[in-house]
Amino acid sequence: MKLLIMGPPGAGKGTQAEGLVKEFSLVHVSTGDMFREAIKAGTEMGKRAKEYMDKGELVPDEVVVGMVNERLSQDDCQEKGFLLDGFPRTLPQAIALDEAIEALKINLNGVINIDVPRERLMARLTGRRICRNCGSSYHILFNPPQQEGKCDNCGGELYQRSDDNEEAVSNRLDVYENQTQPLIEYYIQKKLLKNINGDQEINKVLTEVITSIKTTSNISDYDDSLPSCC
Ligand SMILES: [Zn+2]
Repeated sequence: MKLLIMGPPGAGKGTQAEGLVKEFSLVHVSTGDMFREAIKAGTEMGKRAKEYMDKGELVPDEVVVGMVNERLSQDDCQEKGFLLDGFPRTLPQAIALDEAIEALKINLNGVINIDVPRERLMARLTGRRICRNCGSSYHILFNPPQQEGKCDNCGGELYQRSDDNEEAVSNRLDVYENQTQPLIEYYIQKKLLKNINGDQEINKVLTEVITSIKTTSNISDYDDSLPSCC
């Protein structure tokens, strides 16, 4: 099974990815993790990536595609299948990915899109509060302090980080939407997109993802020649 997972910040993509990898015994290919590891290990790719990140620039597509391509060509991905996570983020990246995996004679079986209404994402992403005194972290929806605005551990004042405020979160969601909308359309056209309702309890989301994969791709490899009804 060769899958790709995408979802906006706050959609719980990481949790779903973990569950999926376990369910289908897939190799989890997370570009975020790969970058962190490559940088830590000081590999050539890691050094190149770090140069851009240190300058506050995005790592160019060719660097990311090269890294992903290298990873997907390894034996474990070929044998067990994989879940690609964190990539592609843009249409040009998706096209580059297609070229790369075509060269490896791989077809994607499905693209999972964790869909959560924007106002729910806003609530999730702006709810974090941090203690000024001891650094403890709370969430006004998921992990509220016993007394509003006060730390349970030390009684310190809770505050909202500037990157968690409405404007910052709203900007982040705008960037995500603008980048990925063309990507979603691209995968709809390829009949690969599986839209999952991410606005429900975590385990229910996972069940929906697993069911959607099992019902639509119980074939070992996606076959382009199949009509869309199948
Ligand atoms: Zn505290």
